Amino acid sequence: MKKIVKKAFFALALSAFLASAPMAFASSGHGHDAAVGHTDKSPNETMSAVIQGNNTFKGHVDPNHFDAFQDGQVPNLTVITCSDSRVHTHLFGFEADNNVFMIRNIGNQVANSEGSVDYGVNHLPTKILMILGHSSCGAIKAAMGDYSGETQGIKKELDPLMPVISQDDGNGSFKERWAKNVERNVDYQVDYSLKLYDAKVSHGDMVVVGAVYDFNNIYGQGRGSLIVTNINGEKTPNILMQHPVLKDLSKADIVTHVSSIAP
Ligand SMILES: [Zn+2]
Repeated sequence: MKKIVKKAFFALALSAFLASAPMAFASSGHGHDAAVGHTDKSPNETMSAVIQGNNTFKGHVDPNHFDAFQDGQVPNLTVITCSDSRVHTHLFGFEADNNVFMIRNIGNQVANSEGSVDYGVNHLPTKILMILGHSSCGAIKAAMGDYSGETQGIKKELDPLMPVISQDDGNGSFKERWAKNVERNVDYQVDYSLKLYDAKVSHGDMVVVGAVYDFNNIYGQGRGSLIVTNINGEKTPNILMQHPVLKDLSKADIVTHVSSIAP
């Protein structure tokens, strides 16, 4: 019980950190200030909602739902994304049970969850590893500034972002640099993964996909769009669009969901 309470407080503290970080971004022209703030729900209200929500799921799900995977999982993709609560927990309405091996940490970093990524890629093994960054990522924003006053734990998880931030030449508005650094981080995590899983990728056993979940309409495709920015290290949109992994999508879908803003 004590452990659960401790975990809940950690989660609350972390979400407060992440929620407060995008403040400057939200107030610098995107006009979503109302979405940034502290929850007014008490912990008991939240816990009731969690239990009741799961009961609702349990009550509505087909009784056979669990048959296929009660004895083992066969997911199709490993996803590493940010812990940010604004990124879907269950990914895009896509059926996630037994389909998505989901790993989350601040700034969607492979290095900070390498064992979990290894497990998804080597043991399950999934044929896609997706690195999913997101617009207005508080971890990227924090890494762009002075985070020396943060806890050891947070500092340890932000330090690996330094090779990303060092690519920022300081040109452009903070908002533009922040958005580019989000995409640069996705590219960096894809490159990091390609080094780890080079043999799998070169044998065609796995594809590493980099994408940005954009709830600020930075890529101009509407809030909530999923933008593919990198496949196996390829970042040029026109070349990316030809990749076989996208061949079952319509041309319109490919054109609107493949993009880049980072140099
Ligand atoms: Zn984030």
